[in-house]
Amino acid sequence: MRTFDFDLFVIGGGSGGVRAARMSAQRGARVALAECAELGGTCVNVGCIPKKLYSYAAGYAESFEEAAGFGWRLGEPRFDWNRLKANRAREITRLNGVYRGLLEGAGVTLIQGWAQLADAQTVQIGEKKHTARHVLVATGGMPFVPEVAGREHLVVSDAMFDLDPFPKRLLVVGGGYIACEFASIFNGLGAQVTQLYRGAHLLNGFDEDLRQFLAKEMTRTGIDIRFNCEIDMITRTDSGLCALLSRGQRVEADTILYATGRVPNTQGLGLEAAGVALDERGGVVVDAHYRSSVPSVLAVGDVSTRQQLTPVALAEAMVVVDTLFGKGPRQLDYEFTPTAVFTHPNIGTCGYTEAAARAKFGKVSVFSSEFKALRHTLSGSGERTFMKLIVEHASDRVVGLHMVGPDAGEVVQGFAVAMRAGATKAMFDSTIGIHPTVAEEFVTMREPMPG
Ligand code: FAD
Repeated sequence: MRTFDFDLFVIGGGSGGVRAARMSAQRGARVALAECAELGGTCVNVGCIPKKLYSYAAGYAESFEEAAGFGWRLGEPRFDWNRLKANRAREITRLNGVYRGLLEGAGVTLIQGWAQLADAQTVQIGEKKHTARHVLVATGGMPFVPEVAGREHLVVSDAMFDLDPFPKRLLVVGGGYIACEFASIFNGLGAQVTQLYRGAHLLNGFDEDLRQFLAKEMTRTGIDIRFNCEIDMITRTDSGLCALLSRGQRVEADTILYATGRVPNTQGLGLEAAGVALDERGGVVVDAHYRSSVPSVLAVGDVSTRQQLTPVALAEAMVVVDTLFGKGPRQLDYEFTPTAVFTHPNIGTCGYTEAAARAKFGKVSVFSSEFKALRHTLSGSGERTFMKLIVEHASDRVVGLHMVGPDAGEVVQGFAVAMRAGATKAMFDSTIGIHPTVAEEFVTMREPMPG
């Protein structure tokens, strides 16, 4: 029988790769992991974690303004961008170390460097080749920027955490969640933010009412959102950068962020030469057990084009671990994956949009509510909260739950458990609310929308 250097070779030390390597090693497998940058991948270094820390930082601006209504008198708040950057960098370095410790503690062989497939069971880093029974591709994704004249002047999301100096004027191009989050964050931190999107509504794929409500709220916080806009050219001027729009308008900015989507990181990995099929976006095509078209090569996380979220990459990694070194194959259920968008206010969502629910279930009842939260009766803020439930008529099951409001992600996480368990609207109705909270509205909506 052929012998291998390792049972599993993981390419990429991000969310999915670290989880798969660590848990496989804990189950006795001989595991190596190659990472070409910092351990922790996108989420830890340039994604979820630093983004959420900056979102907290931005949130203080609202809190300072609202405090007066509750009797507080504060001096003029001053924001120190360099201190925030330094504190974030320290925390991220600590997390990189935690990841290293977890992998080393589990007995994973860590290799620093760019890895590629030499063949279906051989990984090459520099001149060195390692054989493995299974190879897991967990190389994530990277920002995609469309062709635009003056491209050298723009930045992508990876660069936003360390901008120097702080951009007084920020132009964000894109309408997805990353664009909306950075617009909200830098608006809160004090930048004058313009957001351009070529479509008519932000957040493609989210519930239609929620998309419109969020745009209104973001505008209320001071972001200048312009729809149906595209940039023809970016130039450098004496006073910064200038984006020339296809309709002839100009937008001046100190920084221009293109958050226009992400593509799988598969280039130069030797996948196609090894016979691994890629889809039209360059993602690894996998079956329900994350096997590619080559049985020894598997892929999890953003490198295959499913739901691109850290908890999804972690869950996929655990399916691989169980399949290769555990109880055997099982399948992940993606139906009620909850997710949040850390705009100001936040979005939390789980299950189907109204349109998707109508397409899948036929007749549905829709309950929705928009109100001013108790906090804002004294805060002076005009912020409003939006909540929506979509109920399958035939079964009474709640199949969609959407919220724009404070801590929406925290609220929706718990409801996601109920929805996965098949909770009906009658069960929501019979649940006692926690008063006074914003979340109680989800169990007190009684009248469906007409139609
Ligand atoms: P990654 O975490 O990207 O890891 C891939 C790793 O592979 C990287 O470390 C890379 O350096 C390494 N690598 C690539 N090629 C090679 C090679 N050839 N050899 C060696 N190493 C290689 N998700 C959420 O759930 N919540 C959020 O709030 C959230 N916010 C986000 C905000 C931003 C700005 C971005 C960009 C993403 C965000 N995400 C969020 C998405 C989340 O970060 C990803 O879904 C997740 O990191 C995917 O994990 P992964 O393991 O597939 O890839």
